[in-house]
Amino acid sequence: MDTPIRPSLRDLPAVDAVLKTPSGQLAIARFGRLPVTQAVRGALDEVRARLLAGKLASLPTPDHVALAATSALEGAARASLAPLFNLTGTVLHTNLGRALLAEEAVAAATAAMRSAVALEFDLSTGTRGERDDHVRDLLIELTGAEDATVVNNNAAAVLLVLNTLGLGKEAIVSRGELIEIGGAFRMPDIMARAGVRLIEVGTTNRTHARDYEGALTPETGLVLKVHTSNYRIEGFTKEVSARELASIAGARGVPLVNDLGSGTLVDLARIGLAHEPTVREAVAEGADLVTFSGDKLLGGPQTGFIVGRKDLIAKVNRNPMKRALRVDKIRLAALEATLKLYRDPDRLAARLPTLRLLARTRDELRAVAERLTAPVAARLGPGFTVEVADCTSQIGSGALPLETLASAALAIRPAGDASGGALNGLATRLRGLPVPVIGRVNEGALLLDLRCLEDEAGFLASLDALGAAP
Ligand SMILES: *Cc1c(COP(=O)(O)O)cnc(C)c1O
Repeated sequence: MDTPIRPSLRDLPAVDAVLKTPSGQLAIARFGRLPVTQAVRGALDEVRARLLAGKLASLPTPDHVALAATSALEGAARASLAPLFNLTGTVLHTNLGRALLAEEAVAAATAAMRSAVALEFDLSTGTRGERDDHVRDLLIELTGAEDATVVNNNAAAVLLVLNTLGLGKEAIVSRGELIEIGGAFRMPDIMARAGVRLIEVGTTNRTHARDYEGALTPETGLVLKVHTSNYRIEGFTKEVSARELASIAGARGVPLVNDLGSGTLVDLARIGLAHEPTVREAVAEGADLVTFSGDKLLGGPQTGFIVGRKDLIAKVNRNPMKRALRVDKIRLAALEATLKLYRDPDRLAARLPTLRLLARTRDELRAVAERLTAPVAARLGPGFTVEVADCTSQIGSGALPLETLASAALAIRPAGDASGGALNGLATRLRGLPVPVIGRVNEGALLLDLRCLEDEAGFLASLDALGAAP
């Protein structure tokens, strides 16, 4: 009787032999000799480990090893930060990168990346210029403020303003406005890091003018009003309007800062949404400084704005922390292009993706869903049913938290008596596609909200890759 021939470590292909195979040579042409050599060693290590564990009946050929190394290199070459389809129904999804930029902004950012630009250089005089010069006048024009500056994001804007006006002093805030934005951005913690003593006034649901008046002392550096952007306190409530606060603080010579959060430069009622206070309104109400985000409703790159009184902006600009919070030329170029679109409000909703997506109606989205039902069902196979379903989208990033947008989705359910696990399995496979598709599971269905889907052909092409996976 023959003894079975067990593969032996000694017969493993040598690295050189693997590199010499046609597949090895092809891999070297694509990825370079050093990465391929390392990947081949990795693949051989794996074979060795499986051999020692008794999990391998026969040895791989050198060509097999080269192919394994190639697929490892292909996986590593795939960008981690690559496009995906956001079908969650949340338009400004912080975890998915918030606003999509206008083509004008993309072009401006790309040009700035490739080339030298007059970032801090005055072309007319040939002398040093300022970074803010590229957007200051636009921000003044669009908000009605005296002056403006730009930093990394709105969290940075708030931190910088608190530190500039309140270092070693007190800031008065209503207990109803001590927000957490998510992650570690909690107003009391930011205050502490800015070196400001927080003076809470009023109660969670009611704060009166006399609460602020009683807290104002020579130690007060600022009064802060925070737009409660991600929640609403309803019922027996009282808050002091920004206008009234401006006069209370102003009478004592203390600046009022209004953190608007999302902030918008246009009245959202124009596209059928609820009215969200515009930056221009906040400035007109008498706030000395207003802070807001660039990548929420404004629809631009991640940035934060501080607009308001000229003398206070000058003080902010003299703060040494400003340098640590500034934006680079790429974002500044994208921002300038985005802000310029606001000069033409009639075409804004067509050109600015954030507003365009928010403005899509349920009828329009139902039509998309109807077009896609059959082709998506064909790609998912007989294990799933696909139907058009009404759903609601949300703006996201804390803007208008109670406002939902009537939308339409593809509702995918397991066919017959397949288990709920099938749906999670499908969600996982969709996330694993070359262009991942992210939906949301709701009451036994995987919902693909179509509000943010504009490239229908690309979406179907991505689903084509489902066939390959089990
Ligand atoms: C979102 C938000 C912030 C933080 O802005 P980022 O742009 O995310 O840094 C601060 N304050 C309020 C009220 C917000 O809604």
